[in-house]
Amino acid sequence: MQGGQANAAGILSCLGQVRRALQIRLRRRRGFGLPEAEIGIIGGSGLYSMPGLTEVREERVPTPFGDASDSFILGSLEGRTVAFLARHGRGHRLLPSELNFRANIYAMKALGVERILSVSAVGSLKEEHKPTDFVIADQFIDRTFLRTSTFFGDGIVGHVAFGDPVCATVAEAAAAACEQVGVVGKRGGTYICMEGPQFSTKAESNLYRSWGADVVGMTNLQEAKLAREAEICYATVAMVTDYDCWHPHHDSVTVEQIVAVLHQNAENAAKVVRATVAALPAERTCGCATAAKYAILTQPAAIPEAAKERVRLLFGKYLG
Ligand SMILES: [Zn+2]
Repeated sequence: MQGGQANAAGILSCLGQVRRALQIRLRRRRGFGLPEAEIGIIGGSGLYSMPGLTEVREERVPTPFGDASDSFILGSLEGRTVAFLARHGRGHRLLPSELNFRANIYAMKALGVERILSVSAVGSLKEEHKPTDFVIADQFIDRTFLRTSTFFGDGIVGHVAFGDPVCATVAEAAAAACEQVGVVGKRGGTYICMEGPQFSTKAESNLYRSWGADVVGMTNLQEAKLAREAEICYATVAMVTDYDCWHPHHDSVTVEQIVAVLHQNAENAAKVVRATVAALPAERTCGCATAAKYAILTQPAAIPEAAKERVRLLFGKYLG
C-alpha cells in the first residue's frame, strides 16, 4: 500500500515537473523573455540577501505599476529556481509606506513565481512569543491607510476571497522547516499590519492585545492581498525581534540585546527559507492558482483596453 502511494506520489511529482516545463516553454513562446523562477522569497529587515544561492544573476523587472523595491536576485537553491527580493531595497532605503507592493508582486508573477515565502521582523503582542521565536501567521488585521492593496481599479472591478489569507501548503512547509532546523516556529497567529513608520503607542499595543493578535509588523498584509489576486501562493514567517511597548520590560531592553536578536533571527531565517524551499512539493494542489477565477465583476466589453493591457499577465485568461 505504502509502495503504491510512493509510486503515485512519484508519478504526480513527475507530472508536475512536465507541466512546469511546458509552462516555461509556453511563457517563452509568448515572449515574456524573462528568466524563470518557481519560488519567490521576500526578505525583510535582517534578511537582505539569500545565502546558499548558486547560479546567481540579477534582473530588473519592469512592471505596469512602476519599479519594484530593487533588482531581483535569481538563482538556484536546493535544486529549485528562486527569485529573491530585498523588500526595502538593498541598503534598506524604503519605508513600509513607500513600498511599491504591486510592482513587487507583479514582477514575481512575470518571473513565473508560483509561491512566495515572505520573511519579516515583528514585535510580539503575547508573552509566549519570545524574541527569536518565529510565528507563521495565518490571519491579518489591517491598520494601514496609505497603500494601494489591489491590482483592480481604473476600469476593472474584482473581489477575491481572503478568509484564509495565507497558503496552507507553504505555511506548513515553513513550520516543518523551523522544526527541522531547530528554530521555534509557531503555526498560526494574527499579524497586525500597521502603517508606521513609528512603532505603536501603548494604547494601540494594548488594543491589539485585546483583539487577541499575536504580532505586529508593517509590511505583510499588502503582499498577501496582492499575491492572492495574482494567484500566487503566499505565506509569511514573522520573526519576533522584541516585545512591543505593552510589555513592562520593554524599556529596559538594551541596544546590544536587540542587535543580538536581529543577528540570530537573520541567521535562522536563512536556514528556514532554505529548508522550506527544499520541502515545497513540486505540484500545487491548493486553491491559490485559481483564486481570481470568479473575481472579476466588470463585463469584459466594459473594461477599457488600457485596463485590460495593464492586468493581462494576471487576469488575461479570464478576460477572453
Ligand atoms: Zn497555495
